[in-house]
Amino acid sequence: MTGGPGYVYVAALGGGIAAQAALSEATGEAPIPIDLRAVPRVTFTDPQVAAVGFTEKEARAAGYNARATTFPITALPRGVVSHRTTGLVRLVAEEGTDRLLGAHLVAANAGDVIGEAVLAVRFELTTRDLVSTLHAYLTWGEGIKLSAQTFTRDIAKLSCCA
Ligand SMILES: Cc1cc2nc3c(=O)[nH]c(=O)nc-3n(C[C@H](O)[C@H](O)[C@H](O)COP(=O)(O)OP(=O)(O)OC[C@H]3O[C@@H](n4cnc5c(N)ncnc54)[C@H](O)[C@@H]3O)c2cc1C
Repeated sequence: MTGGPGYVYVAALGGGIAAQAALSEATGEAPIPIDLRAVPRVTFTDPQVAAVGFTEKEARAAGYNARATTFPITALPRGVVSHRTTGLVRLVAEEGTDRLLGAHLVAANAGDVIGEAVLAVRFELTTRDLVSTLHAYLTWGEGIKLSAQTFTRDIAKLSCCA
């Protein structure tokens, strides 16, 4: 109806905002603008595909000096112990500020892991914020931190949790 991304949570957000706007004269509340800068998208294949924000190409087209890094799930401890090593995490960040502009995952549980990247894109966190945030060892979520680390380090040379 609105032409936005075709997901049920986007429809629900738009519905709530439409209802609030319809009542705004009576309630005196200003209509809330819809914020679609960080819409997660998940494809329930096996492995799952999940993304938020810009690809590297989209970021460049939007005027960002963007760079990207790719982290293979073969290097993720959770993937190794689960024998589910197919996939990758690709992060897109702005050169200089290190602000996260996008995250693209192919991995088991990618649809759950993307939540952290959604918060990071929405609240303009940096790859340094992701690296300095503690992530529990032996989780799928650790893939976001390790992927952020690959912007500055060769993760093949890191010991566990470094
Ligand atoms: C197979 C499939 C799988 C999907 N899976 C996901 C998913 O996993 N995650 C996700 O986020 N989204 C998913 N979606 C998308 C999601 O369902 C839609 O984005 C969402 O339902 C859109 O909500 P809506 O309220 O705009 O429209 P709808 O949910 O389509 O609601 C429109 C309503 O209006 C009614 N209607 C139409 N014309 C009239 C009329 N003339 N008079 C009265 N009533 C009318 C319809 O009967 C319907 O009940 C999926 C969609 C499909 C088709």
